[in-house]
Amino acid sequence: MRERELQKLIRAGAGGDDFDPALHGRIVAALKEFEPSALSLTTRFQAAGYLQRAVTYLAHQNDYKRPSPYAQDDFVVDEEKFPEETGILTGISATLQYSNEMANHFEGRRRSLIQSLNSKPIFSVAPPWNTLSEQAKLSLLNEFMKRSVEIHSLVKGENRIISLLDDQNHARPYARSLLQISKREDGIQRTGAAVKFSKKVLGSQTHRRALILAYHESVHIVSHQIALDLNNGDIPPAHPLYNDARIRRASLYFGPAESSCIASLYESDSEEKLAYGEQEAFIREAAAFNRSQAKP
Ligand SMILES: [Zn+2]
Repeated sequence: MRERELQKLIRAGAGGDDFDPALHGRIVAALKEFEPSALSLTTRFQAAGYLQRAVTYLAHQNDYKRPSPYAQDDFVVDEEKFPEETGILTGISATLQYSNEMANHFEGRRRSLIQSLNSKPIFSVAPPWNTLSEQAKLSLLNEFMKRSVEIHSLVKGENRIISLLDDQNHARPYARSLLQISKREDGIQRTGAAVKFSKKVLGSQTHRRALILAYHESVHIVSHQIALDLNNGDIPPAHPLYNDARIRRASLYFGPAESSCIASLYESDSEEKLAYGEQEAFIREAAAFNRSQAKP
């Protein structure tokens, strides 16, 4: 089978009520014939998107579910019930990892961000965090994310970020970023990012948890910006982040290669690995800062 025929087959596949078990079997069999690295980025993302929709649908239908360790979803798929699909997805995911250059880019600028927090504090405000209004807390987090995005960005420009209280009443503390993307024939265009914080995270005794989540979300906004820079011609093929930008752009255009419903894939997703890795390093390196700033 040629890649073009594989693409046609994948496009015919659907989740939800239009799910077709026979067609699904043909798609899985066809995908097993290909080495993921031999497929175009487009085909890999289309295949990953289809397989996740199909597996999530089948997990719902057959109750092949487990409680989710994440805040975003209520369940994760029982992967043991889908060895072929998760095997293919793992293979695709392995070809969509960011380079070390991407990690280096963030590492150097993270240091500058922490230094800037020490010299120009945002959170050492009186009155202390736990007495501030939700709106005042959101403004501080927004100021922090704007500074983070500004320091990490390759190309300087206006960063339209808004911070909101998440109206979904979830028991766990979390934040999520909604990247407002308008899709065009030739790719993506960024119009802004909204980051929503749960009531629970804003209600914490100190700003620590909210700050860590805000940093995590700012990493997603920056990599999104890098994908846009690629579209605007600011990242030529010789640029060290060229391939990383292509991967991020494809994930924005076709949807992420990994959803949080499939735990092993969510954890192997290069974008989430980057954001969580940065988050951990930020916690370690900003520890002294947090201690000094958390005091009322
Ligand atoms: Zn994330």
